[in-house]
Amino acid sequence: MALLEIEDAAKAFGSLKAVDGVTLAVEAGRVQGIAGPNGSGKSTLFNLVTGIPFGPDRGTVRLEGRPIERLPAHEIAQAGIARTFQRETSFDGLTVFENALVGATFGGRRKASAPAREAAANALGLVGLAPATFPRLAGELSVFERKCLMLATACAMRPKLLLLDEPASGLTRPEIEASIGLIQGIAASGVTIVLIEHVLTFLMSLSDHLVILNGGRVLASGSPRSVIADPKVVEAYLGTRRPAA
Ligand code: ADP
Ligand code: MG
Repeated sequence: MALLEIEDAAKAFGSLKAVDGVTLAVEAGRVQGIAGPNGSGKSTLFNLVTGIPFGPDRGTVRLEGRPIERLPAHEIAQAGIARTFQRETSFDGLTVFENALVGATFGGRRKASAPAREAAANALGLVGLAPATFPRLAGELSVFERKCLMLATACAMRPKLLLLDEPASGLTRPEIEASIGLIQGIAASGVTIVLIEHVLTFLMSLSDHLVILNGGRVLASGSPRSVIADPKVVEAYLGTRRPAA
């Protein structure tokens, strides 16, 4: 059984079918990439899986075989799924450490106990935020540090599955290289990762398996090298001919 199984998931906004019958599986221990043109439904797919802010209109999402598509977002988080967002998202008026603690305590649903504080500190260490940064306000961090903090807050939840939405966007090349190392470290710690990204070097260095979405549907799925060589994928990116909706 795969760790995550999505079957025929769909979400429409009015007449716009943002996610239009997606079926895919994520094996435990894998880093799975998701790419696709802007508006192809990638972030919406993460929203459906995490219930933040909404679940699917139809279809099923199973974590370790258990249906989760009707659970509220905090129960999905407690079941073992954490995510980051396309835009850097933090509690800007809280310190770096407090932000990670929000993750470790599932937004206050669990006590800020010694193990939670330890999980917060470990997660910050995992993303390279040194103890000297812990008292700083999140709002004062650089873009890269904010991305690292968002990653740490998600890791502090000790998820089985981590969903990363464009972790490399807006970063410089050295920062991208650093992020690749961080994500490899998180994967090596036993967390399964699904990664939405446009930056090709990022996807190719990290992904064991790559899925391409287009128009809310799965256009291709397989090894990264085979997928990016697929003529359907090349066409979708170059926009020479859009597949029929
Ligand atoms: P991607 O992440 O692949 O760029 P999204 O999943 O963000 O794409 O969006 C897919 C489509 O759904 C886009 O056309 C987008 O404008 C639309 N969309 C996403 N979220 C909403 C929303 N909350 N309300 C209305 N339309 C939305
Ligand atoms: Mg997106």
